[in-house]
Amino acid sequence: MSDDNPLKSLRNIGIAAHIDAGKTTTTERILYHAGKIHKVGEVHSGDTVTDFDPQERKRGITIFSAAVTVHWNNCQINIIDTPGHIDFTAEVERCLRVLDGAIIVIDGEAGVEAQTETVWRQTTKYQVPRLIFVNKMDKTGADFFYSLKTIEEKLNASILVLQIPIGAENDLQGVIDIVEMKAYYFTFGDKEENYCVAEIPPNFSEQVKKYRYSLIEKVVEYDEKLTNKYLEGQNLTIVEIKSLIRKATLTGKKFPIFCGTAFKNVGIKLLLNGVVDYLPLPLDKREIATFSLEDKEKMIMISPQQNNFIALAFKIITDPFVGKLTFLRIYSGEIISGSRIYNINKGKEEKVSRLMRMYANSREEIKKVGVGDIVAAIGLKHTATGDTLGEKNNTLVLEEIKFAEPVINLAIEPESSQEQDKLSKALNTISEEDPTFRYWFDQETKQMIIAGMGELHLEVLIERLRSEFKVRVNAGKPQVSYRETITKKVEKVEGEYKKQTGGSGHFAWVKLTFEANKDKGFEFVDAKKGQGMTNKDAEEVKEGIIEAMSSGLLLGYPLLDLKATLLEGKRHDVDTKPGDFKNAAILAFRGDKKEERQWKAEKLGLILLEPIMKVEVMIPKDYYGNILASLTSRRGEIEKTEENEQLQNYTLYAKVPLSEMFDYSTPLRSLSGGRGNYSMKFSHYQEVPDYILNKLLEKK
Ligand code: GDP
Repeated sequence: MSDDNPLKSLRNIGIAAHIDAGKTTTTERILYHAGKIHKVGEVHSGDTVTDFDPQERKRGITIFSAAVTVHWNNCQINIIDTPGHIDFTAEVERCLRVLDGAIIVIDGEAGVEAQTETVWRQTTKYQVPRLIFVNKMDKTGADFFYSLKTIEEKLNASILVLQIPIGAENDLQGVIDIVEMKAYYFTFGDKEENYCVAEIPPNFSEQVKKYRYSLIEKVVEYDEKLTNKYLEGQNLTIVEIKSLIRKATLTGKKFPIFCGTAFKNVGIKLLLNGVVDYLPLPLDKREIATFSLEDKEKMIMISPQQNNFIALAFKIITDPFVGKLTFLRIYSGEIISGSRIYNINKGKEEKVSRLMRMYANSREEIKKVGVGDIVAAIGLKHTATGDTLGEKNNTLVLEEIKFAEPVINLAIEPESSQEQDKLSKALNTISEEDPTFRYWFDQETKQMIIAGMGELHLEVLIERLRSEFKVRVNAGKPQVSYRETITKKVEKVEGEYKKQTGGSGHFAWVKLTFEANKDKGFEFVDAKKGQGMTNKDAEEVKEGIIEAMSSGLLLGYPLLDLKATLLEGKRHDVDTKPGDFKNAAILAFRGDKKEERQWKAEKLGLILLEPIMKVEVMIPKDYYGNILASLTSRRGEIEKTEENEQLQNYTLYAKVPLSEMFDYSTPLRSLSGGRGNYSMKFSHYQEVPDYILNKLLEKK
């Protein structure tokens, strides 16, 4: 790699933590310290940097929620936001796809907490190299060595201790750098980070020696030449040790430890040095997996150094000032402002009208963005989150981002009917930004329904409607988002759409077979014979069935897993208009009147499915019996129990219907003396017991 290779000075990182560990404060400090460097030293000829105006700054949070850029030690660092709450698991996993490295922030008093473990598992799944920042070393009760113990025990992580604190709590004075063998004494401030560098105090020399020895022992094996040098008894230089730590970190199996307090500006600059020194360059991810559009099973590895442009749209944000921003990670080639690119998933051309880089307090319009980088594109009309963008003749797509189905519904209505329009627009904007959010209008109850990943997810969305979109809404109670499916096969079902109101009318007639397609989603087979209809008509039939499925047959819930085979159709030269075949298909599938739908539902063996959640509950030993009983009484199936001797606690793994888990935190708290913790995510759909089905049917 040549020295002028821009990839060398680029990092894409995320910052993750248990709630309250200090992720926001650490991020803000990083933006502040590294952001200033950008302001002072920025030289981008021909580019325009605009400061956010105050109103925009207020929205900074939203803008920041995608990616923001800082500069440090001649390196550009893109920080990608990773949401913390369990309801947003899909979001976290999506962010992990586009970043190359991460900082995990830990509360220096509490050590590793429940969500740290969740984030750790997710980052391990994607093999993301990580640094750990032990924060809040100033806090009463802060204990660096206890925190290290929890990292080793709860996360089962092999750590590289690069720093140890001088003092703790009120007496925190600074940190010792074990690699450079220096002591940093800080002058504590709530704005600036100031320190002076000194010799390591003599009372620390034994401890430092021990950690330095253990550090070198753990990393030296990553380079053969240096192993030999070390075995020969020669001292390794700082540069050599750093290169070893880097190699070890990049394996995703060794984790450098930093410490400080974000709040009082201790250790942030050293942490930033760590990001540059140890976290991966985009190129360290040597090859990228792509899939052939025709055969999604066929994986083709490509090099980021090939020239074809390939990028992933990983987040969409609607900015009130510049409109829709589509955040892209460029995996190979480059993108130029004003150029035309191609959405490979949708088969549609897109024009990039502008490219923007986001800073903490400003944005910068740029002409060109190269491989490895992250940028916000303006002007893309058809692109959704997870789509691959590339060149027109390209048929390779990046791995799809799989979003879980929304499992919770609630009904909302505007306080006044005048706000209906505003509400529809806001919901449309949110659904463009958030692929785990759905909304629809329930024809029967005449209510707007919104659906999301969990109670908190919907709460956050309603809050956004109120504060950001200024729509006053009333919200109902959260309900489980059920699904319908069929279990039988019905052949040769006819549907006719016909209207004659003088002059030319409407006409289309179709014959189809419907059957169950368990766990295989929707499948449409075009087996029409003869000349009765065109391919375009057949396409309309397919669209009609998809539309009918979206609101189900009987209870208004989306219908899953259906195979429809088109057998025959008839059109009329004059009367058949666009849309007529779609209507004929809808009539064939679910009819028009309620009685007809009931009859069809019966013939097709309609059943109702409920979401089953994978639940993990962590509880101190003494409360095990209580919790076990509480899960069983909630129709839960216990899968396994893990015991952690050292921490005197249990983790229970169970599958429980979502309908039984509403507001579980309240009983959990009272059944575990306030010490239990739980997380859950969608597992699968399962047929509901009859008594629940009957209850739901009664309500209709
Ligand atoms: P997040 O939920 O992880 O984003 O955490 P925040 O950054 O919002 O911090 C949670 C609370 O901890 C806030 O009240 C912060 O002021 C406080 N906090 C953050 N960093 C430190 C620190 O280094 N020392 C102390 N004592 N408090 C901190």
